[in-house]
Amino acid sequence: MTSTAGPHGTSSAGPYAGTGRLDAVRRKLELDALGDDARIDLLVIGGGVTGAGVALDAASRGLRTVLVEARDLAFGTSRWSSKLVHGGLRYLASGRLKVARESAVERHVLMTRTAPHLIRALPQLVPLVPGLLRPGQAALIRTGFHAGDALRLTAGTPGALLPRVRRIDADRTRRLVPGVRTDGLRGALVAHDGQLVDDARLVVALARTAAQYGASVLTRVRAEQVTGTSARLVDTLTGRELAVRAGAVVNATGVWAGEVDTSIRLRPSRGTHLLVDAAALGHPTAALTVPVPGSTSRFVFALPQQLGRVAIGLTDEDAPGPIPDEPQPTEAELDFLLDTVNAALATALTRADVRGAYAGLRPLIDTGDGSTADISREHAVLESPDGVITVVGGKLTTYRTMAEDAVDTAVRLRGLPARACWTARLPLIGAPGHRDGRPLPSGAAPASLLARHGGAAHEVLAAGELTPIAEGLDVTRAEVAYALTHEGALDAADVLDRRTRIGLVAEDAERARKAVEEIVAERLGDGSGSGDGSGGGQEG
Ligand SMILES: Cc1cc2nc3c(=O)[nH]c(=O)nc-3n(C[C@H](O)[C@H](O)[C@H](O)COP(=O)(O)OP(=O)(O)OC[C@H]3O[C@@H](n4cnc5c(N)ncnc54)[C@H](O)[C@@H]3O)c2cc1C
Repeated sequence: MTSTAGPHGTSSAGPYAGTGRLDAVRRKLELDALGDDARIDLLVIGGGVTGAGVALDAASRGLRTVLVEARDLAFGTSRWSSKLVHGGLRYLASGRLKVARESAVERHVLMTRTAPHLIRALPQLVPLVPGLLRPGQAALIRTGFHAGDALRLTAGTPGALLPRVRRIDADRTRRLVPGVRTDGLRGALVAHDGQLVDDARLVVALARTAAQYGASVLTRVRAEQVTGTSARLVDTLTGRELAVRAGAVVNATGVWAGEVDTSIRLRPSRGTHLLVDAAALGHPTAALTVPVPGSTSRFVFALPQQLGRVAIGLTDEDAPGPIPDEPQPTEAELDFLLDTVNAALATALTRADVRGAYAGLRPLIDTGDGSTADISREHAVLESPDGVITVVGGKLTTYRTMAEDAVDTAVRLRGLPARACWTARLPLIGAPGHRDGRPLPSGAAPASLLARHGGAAHEVLAAGELTPIAEGLDVTRAEVAYALTHEGALDAADVLDRRTRIGLVAEDAERARKAVEEIVAERLGDGSGSGDGSGGGQEG
């Protein structure tokens, strides 16, 4: 393999140098290169938001970086979140000012610089209807909202981007959430937060941008026998094994962190969401926030989503025992979510309305006692006795500071030759200001495609047809082709479950599967890649 300098002097596979194009051919080239000369600065284990963030941080600081992900980008917790870019309000409630402020600052960075193309301002309403709030609770919520607003201001986020807290009347409440209960409705309290079009897309954008700065991003590669300076890597597609030596090893495997490094003790907590058709709530454009009876700090949210759905979540349940590949919601959790949200709806939802459900495990650090809802959600960077650096905990919103802390620790402990961190100023692929972005004439691409791809939409248009992949789904054939040629998808499941989120509703997945499989066969043929690695081009 030829190695050429990436934009910041790190090495990257020949035809892919300086590009954020991930595909099967690049994967093979970079695995071969690693086999020939397996000495690198940093090995990052785990391709969730944390690991992808670490890889970008390290590669953009000039470190020769390899990220290995046992399954696919965003295979773990990072695709099961509520997709909110939090301003830290919930941390304020528990007096954790530092984390609250960090969240607000990171929300600002994401919404103004690194990924504004993937995030919109989401109004969140607490409806004022009889019996929903306990006496005094509205005043408490209003105070909390104003404190959140103060955080927004200290982070420098303008009201034009995230409007300030206000009270709205009943008419406006009904327009934003037509399905809201109307008997005695006096309006709603409204605060705004950031909402990602999709969490997995943030991970893919991070990993691709890391690749653009020279990181090798290798999916279907499991790390085993991990030490502070080495690991055995197993290509799960071929069974090939290779030993890699690194200046430092960062374990970013989330809830699996204790399997990679046995000195880590986690206490996972399961969070479940269910999905209903947006039509069942009258196509809301705002989130509904419903207090959990008997709690002052817990709420159930009904969050409008892409693909015409509303996600209702979420739960917080202790989840001891072995870590499943895909955690499953329980019947009791679904009942709890429906019962809670129904208190604020004009027409109660039933189990017949549930189109899908998903659960994720929060990688919480075990503090020894307390329920999981109370366990600290701060992140930690820990060095094990044999030198593995683990970064765990935190939130999707704060991935960037987690990554910076982890790389700073690796640089300090191992004397790695890194420049200072500058990811707060680094636009991800698709973000305004990214050098490959190109504005499109209005109407050239559907709004849904722009929301998922931002300034990279012009590349998506070149990858295939703009026809929907199946009737009633706004995902185009071009996006499916692009997932394979540029976003590192290696099979139909990667496309259905992580590059797009069609797979969240089983019926949708069944409708789209055949067409997706056809495009996978055209693009990847025998599964070994798209041939010459040129990517792009018109879909067959
Ligand atoms: C229900 C729920 C809702 C949430 N909502 C929000 C929200 O709205 N906003 C927010 O900011 N945060 C939210 N969070 C928190 C956030 O989702 C997580 O903190 C974050 O996604 C964790 O990412 P991670 O990269 O650390 O872990 P993961 O995403 O789990 O990534 C770890 C990866 O490591 C890989 N791996 C494991 N073992 C190996 C190995 N041996 N070799 C190679 N790879 C390996 C796995 O396949 C996996 O892909 C939520 C969490 C949950 C559970």
